[in-house]
Amino acid sequence: TLSSRLTDTFKNLRAKGKLSAADVDGTVREIRRALLEADVSLDVVKDFTGKVRERALGDEVNRALNPAQQVVQIVNEELIEVLGGDQRRLQFAKNPPTVIMLAGLQGAGKTTLAGKLAKWLKGQGHTPLLVACDLQRPNAVTQLGVVAEQAGVAIFAPEPGNGVGDPVKVAKRGVAEAKTKQHDFVIIDTAGRLGVDAEMMKQASDIRKATDPDEVLFVIDSLIGQDAVATAQAFQEGVDFTGVVLTKLDGDQRGGAALSIRGVTGRPILFASTGEGLDDFEPFHPDRMASRILDLGDILTLIEQAQSAFDEEEAKKVAEKIAKDAFTLNDFLSQMQQLRGAGSIKKMMGMLPGMGKMKDQLENFDDREIVRTEAIIQSMTMEERENPKILNGSRRLRIAKGSGMTVTDVNSLVQRFEQAAKMMKTVARGGMPQIPGMGPI
Ligand code: GDP
Ligand code: MG
Repeated sequence: TLSSRLTDTFKNLRAKGKLSAADVDGTVREIRRALLEADVSLDVVKDFTGKVRERALGDEVNRALNPAQQVVQIVNEELIEVLGGDQRRLQFAKNPPTVIMLAGLQGAGKTTLAGKLAKWLKGQGHTPLLVACDLQRPNAVTQLGVVAEQAGVAIFAPEPGNGVGDPVKVAKRGVAEAKTKQHDFVIIDTAGRLGVDAEMMKQASDIRKATDPDEVLFVIDSLIGQDAVATAQAFQEGVDFTGVVLTKLDGDQRGGAALSIRGVTGRPILFASTGEGLDDFEPFHPDRMASRILDLGDILTLIEQAQSAFDEEEAKKVAEKIAKDAFTLNDFLSQMQQLRGAGSIKKMMGMLPGMGKMKDQLENFDDREIVRTEAIIQSMTMEERENPKILNGSRRLRIAKGSGMTVTDVNSLVQRFEQAAKMMKTVARGGMPQIPGMGPI
């Protein structure tokens, strides 16, 4: 799925320090592939990845404490932008009724949506009237009647047995009926065809002209994939619409239609339909959809985990000290303290590359060792901690007494500190990474 592809892409970025241009290009390439696989239209993909690449190579990422997280943030922001930025609300007529016309292919979910919208509006204290203008299929009017009853709202339909009926006339009479009966909303359900069809377009366009709706909602099945763009364009030319409703998002694992439609038509997505029931419906929130596509929660958690396990800034400072040969017992102590808890060490090890070999040592690692080390170092003077070379016999005896340990314990600690400092110098020069304070390995 789109979100799992993107999550994988960002996994590779997580916990990286500075990003190179190659990192960014690789990531953008993966994003491009993921979007195309999700049936997002090529134009939208190009535009999107171009913007992400430009920003990812720019200053905001360079300056960021965590560049990978910053890139995820950029992708999220650009996704929200593609999806329409801020949420747009339904436009209400200055003088009621507000007329909403639904258009779209057969099976898109128009009739179901009419019921959902009506129920939603009724819940807000409105008094919608459903108008049945799909006179193409024999049972279409009946279907709208069922939906109206479920929603508990009124319906206006041509008399049964009254011949074929003219949907344009029915629409006009429906709006007139709403005015006399004081309905503040009119929802016009129209006929669709299985494919784009000139006669259907003309009928919809005529209904639009006759009723002058405040909103014409293009209803589209998000499962139709690449066809979504062509269909939307055809309806934009044939009828034109003020907003889009994405249906069947419950079954859409790929999310491509949502990303393409707004980009291609420039019309906002107003609602999302997420099931067959009348309550499976919600105003469309671009930010929520973006998070859903990105699985942002997961990605951010991954990055945060990697970060908290080993604070980058702290590590950098220590590395600089080691390089300058200024690694002290204080640093040693603070690192030991950071590593307290074998569980957290094991977790951290899992996130660092090339740590497999150290698994066995970890099994023997003992938290009490840290406690003893702490006690000894805390019995030292600041001078001794900063400069362990001055630790002669009498100082070591004093420290042993002060910490309740033996001189052998103190000697062993100093020895381990020296080994750790040596190992860390190797790391600083690019050698095999070792965890300081873990004793001889
Ligand atoms: P219309 O031809 O455009 O009026 O489409 P309908 O409203 O008759 O819906 C066609 C089919 O899609 C029906 O079986 C609906 O129950 C189903 N449907 C509509 N919206 C959704 C949705 O959001 N999710 C799912 N899973 N099915 C839907
Ligand atoms: Mg229908």
